[in-house]
Amino acid sequence: MHGRGPEALFIYSDELLSYHFHDDHPFNQLRLKLTLTLLQALELIHDTQIIPPQEATEGDLLRVHDPLYIENVKRMSEIGTTSANDLQYGIGTEDVPPFPGMHKAASLIAGGARLGAEEVMKQAERHVVFLGGGLHHAFRGKASGFCIYNDAAVAISYLLDTYDLKVLYIDTDAHHGDGVQWIFYDEPRVMTVSLHETGKYLFPGTGHIYERGEGKGYGTKINVPLEPFTEDDSFQHVFEQVLVPAFERFRPDVVVSQNGADAHRFDPLTHLSLSMRSYRFIPKLVHELTHAYAGGRWLALGGGGYDIWRVVPRAWTYLFAEANHNPLTDRDIPPSWRDQWKEKSPVELPTRLLDPPFLPIPRRKEINEKNEVTLNRVLSFFQHT
Ligand SMILES: [Zn+2]
Ligand SMILES: [Zn+2]
Repeated sequence: MHGRGPEALFIYSDELLSYHFHDDHPFNQLRLKLTLTLLQALELIHDTQIIPPQEATEGDLLRVHDPLYIENVKRMSEIGTTSANDLQYGIGTEDVPPFPGMHKAASLIAGGARLGAEEVMKQAERHVVFLGGGLHHAFRGKASGFCIYNDAAVAISYLLDTYDLKVLYIDTDAHHGDGVQWIFYDEPRVMTVSLHETGKYLFPGTGHIYERGEGKGYGTKINVPLEPFTEDDSFQHVFEQVLVPAFERFRPDVVVSQNGADAHRFDPLTHLSLSMRSYRFIPKLVHELTHAYAGGRWLALGGGGYDIWRVVPRAWTYLFAEANHNPLTDRDIPPSWRDQWKEKSPVELPTRLLDPPFLPIPRRKEINEKNEVTLNRVLSFFQHT
């Protein structure tokens, strides 16, 4: 490995796969193993870079979650079932069905993110990748959208409480990063920037431009709702135009990114239309700006991603390679990786890291124009606050 910084850390253990609702649920952490084995097949990581997550302590969880909620998650976790009364905690829904051991599994994710935050602070220019995390929909007292504990918020609140830092949270998941936004809605030390498919058509329905924070936190919450079928060029343009002034104005001490990979054209749950080109671009821009403005302190989390065979491993390979100062352009997917997984995969596995060119979306011009209008509205706030 070479480059300008130390090697990136990769937080992982097979135990993370215990966050498993049931076999037909779209959230499938097997994608972590698919990614790690792809990184290994490409010889981009060695064992000394991999450290296991630790379970969050009660104190870690209490920074973010209501004690009553934690208590009830523990209860449901023991029996693995819920009653109608538990719907107030968001558990027992189609999205978040209960499963035995869910408290421990979710705590391991929250603790992994907290460990990542701790590691990032050990030295300047430190990058840590924890793809098990990024469960951005969980609220203080309620599970939502496949998320039980909000590991991103646990990591951020650890940084606030321990070091009194300014944290820039960058969320490029196709869904709005609502949980993180609402948990820190009045917190001026946390800026959240979320690019997502507009809530008009997609869960969780929030992430409007006018959600800008409240009280002392007013102006530190930035939302960019994009049109369905948005493609690479428009996405990347909007992302860069928003992110540069966000860094310039906020001057964060540390960056936490949520790297959901569900805005890809193949993703079955959303309608954005990115290709792997954007999953190469996103971490590259975050990385450059983090060095330029935030002392290179960068914790990269995972997030959504429901085409676990064709999309997520490649997207997160680009992310890790970038964080590890070994950025990739394009590469053949090693046949050994394809052989390892082809029997389990219901689809043909990709042969290259980048996608072949997709046919253009028919309404491209209109979509790009609408995104440009949204972008200009968001940028106008920078001038007025
Ligand atoms: Zn770096
Ligand atoms: Zn998502």
